Amino acid sequence: MSRERELKEIAGDLRRYYEFQKDMGVKRVFRESKETAGDRIETKYPGAEEAVTAKKTILKEDSVPMSREDVINVPEQMGMFDSSAKIMPLEEIKKELFARMSSRLFEGSKQIVFGEGNPKARLVFVGEAPGRDEDLQGRPFVGRAGQLLNKIIEAMGLKREDVYISNIVKSRPPDNRTPTPEEMAEWEPFLFQELRSINPEVVVCLGNTASQSILKTKASLGSLRGKFHRYGKFKVMVTYHPAALLRNPNFKKPLWEDMQVVMKELGISRPGD
Ligand code: URA
Repeated sequence: MSRERELKEIAGDLRRYYEFQKDMGVKRVFRESKETAGDRIETKYPGAEEAVTAKKTILKEDSVPMSREDVINVPEQMGMFDSSAKIMPLEEIKKELFARMSSRLFEGSKQIVFGEGNPKARLVFVGEAPGRDEDLQGRPFVGRAGQLLNKIIEAMGLKREDVYISNIVKSRPPDNRTPTPEEMAEWEPFLFQELRSINPEVVVCLGNTASQSILKTKASLGSLRGKFHRYGKFKVMVTYHPAALLRNPNFKKPLWEDMQVVMKELGISRPGD
C-alpha cells in the first residue's frame, strides 16, 4: 500500500473514531505527550470548533460541558502505580489471596473464585462478584452472564483465552446481593495485583460495582461509559454488565459501541471487516 493511501486510511480511521466519540457526547479527547510522560494534551475533535461556535449562538461558552472534568483520573493508591513495587506472577497472587481471604468467604459461599485467562492479556474484563454458577465451578463468568460475555468477546474477534476475566470481590455474596463498599475495599487490592501482573492496555469495568470501585466514584454508569478513564497507566472503559443486558436488551447497542471504542484502541478489527 502506498504511503499516501496508508495515511488516508489512518486519517479516515481517526475521523470515524472521533466522530463516534463525539456522537457519544464526548467533547474533548486527550493524547499523551511524549516529552512529559503521563501528562495529557487536550485535542479538539475535528469539526469541534464549528460545533462549539454554532452552540455559542444559543449557549454561553462556559456552559458547554468540558470532558476534562468528565474523565476520571484515579490517583495513586496503595502503591498500585509505584513502578518499583514487586510485581507478582498470578499464581503467587492467587496463593496469597487464598491464604489471606479464605477466612473472609461470605456465608454460604463455597469457594474463592480467582480471575482466569491470558496472563499477558491486552484486555481485562472486571465484573462484580461470582454468582451461583461461578461459586459452584470456581471460575468467573461461567453462568448466563458469562455466556453472554463470551459472545461479546467473540464478536470482538477475540477468544475467551485471549483476555483475562476477574471480579472485584472473589466470594459469592449472600443472595447475590451487591457487595458493600467495605467489602469491595477489602478484596480490591488483589485485583490491583492481578492488573499489575498482567499489565493490560485496557480494563473494561462491567457494571456499577466494578466501575465505581475502580474509579472511586458514585457517578452513574451512563455518564462514565463511552470514553476512557485513567487508572494509573491503564485505560479504563466502563460499560453495562452482561447480566443487565439479559434483563434489558436496550443496553446491547451502547455496550457494543463501547466495545468498538476498545477495539479501535487495541487495533482489533472484527472477522470479515
Ligand atoms: N457476575 C459477575 O459480576 N461476575 C461473575 O463472575 C459472574 C457474574
